[in-house]
Amino acid sequence: MKTKGLAPLKKLLSKPKRIAIVTHWSPDGDAIGSSLGLSNFLQKKGHAVTVIVPNEYPEFLHWMHGHKQVVDAMKNKKKAETALKNAEIIFCLDFNELKRINSLGEIIVKLSVPKVLIDHHPNPSEFADYVFHKVESSSTAELVYDFIVKMGGARLVDKHIANCLYTGIMTDTGSFRFPSTSVKTHRVVAHLMDAGAENSLNHNRIYDDNTENRLRLLGFALSEKLIVLPEFHTAFFTLNDSEHERFHYQKGDTEGLVNYALTMRGIVFAAFFAERDGKVKCSFRSKGNFDVNLFARAGFNGGGHKNAAGGMLELSLEEVVKKFKSMLLEYNSKIKKA
Ligand code: 5GP
Ligand code: MN
Repeated sequence: MKTKGLAPLKKLLSKPKRIAIVTHWSPDGDAIGSSLGLSNFLQKKGHAVTVIVPNEYPEFLHWMHGHKQVVDAMKNKKKAETALKNAEIIFCLDFNELKRINSLGEIIVKLSVPKVLIDHHPNPSEFADYVFHKVESSSTAELVYDFIVKMGGARLVDKHIANCLYTGIMTDTGSFRFPSTSVKTHRVVAHLMDAGAENSLNHNRIYDDNTENRLRLLGFALSEKLIVLPEFHTAFFTLNDSEHERFHYQKGDTEGLVNYALTMRGIVFAAFFAERDGKVKCSFRSKGNFDVNLFARAGFNGGGHKNAAGGMLELSLEEVVKKFKSMLLEYNSKIKKA
């Protein structure tokens, strides 16, 4: 599919429109930060914007401006469908294929209105008319900032927009430390701070909002559930349904857990398998050249980036771990070379 340049889109956005913004299943800081950053900007330009999420997102993201108006399609299917069907333009943020938004994808594919993709995941499938995509970009939030500049809106970036975009960049770069953090990322962040982004406060809002249960779950996982496989330079965690329940698990409580395994000396590949509601959510992280996007695609019905990916399997936790271990044997030489 041939996509159009941005000039016709700029023209399209020169008059007030009804706009829907959709982001991926289990939205993270970048998904919500980029979506709310863009929606606050488009609203300032006079558009009527609805942000739609396929399911809920963690409480530590609820402070962002516009959160209260976000439509959760799991809780309010009718409202989400109506917003999509009434939209004159649909923005798809932080995902590269429609299956990442589950049943919302089946609705969107049938709608003939212009679709705009803003994303940084590799190999996007061809479903959008306008594509603003860069794998090298640290985050979708950084791309949204570029998009705003390209639309001639840099001066409209205020504290609210800046805080949303700052948070998207901060969370997707692991607080500006992953290799995806470029000189340009820091320049964008400097512009956002000029526009009012509260850097230290945003960090507190995201990372200093733990409940006691969340900290105890982290402690339990670290001391009781970490499995280290030095021969594969790999470490992983599993948590089953009853362990989640024991610590009164809430959405987002295990976000970042997988990264602890990767902080170990000699470990280049980390995984986390979480059993919930009869399915196993898989998270993969790597250091260096080992491509976890390919690993997740190959065996875990998922995808993501080279150093951060995920997937989902409808197997028991034991079966998933068995599969993981047999794939480690297969991928051993690649992990070693990483
Ligand atoms: P996480 O482990 O934090 O859930 O996800 C890490 C990365 O992998 C994110 O960039 C996310 O977009 C991607 N990802 C997570 N789960 C899936 C999945 O089921 N399918 C695909 N294609 N990507 C995923
Ligand atoms: Mn992202």
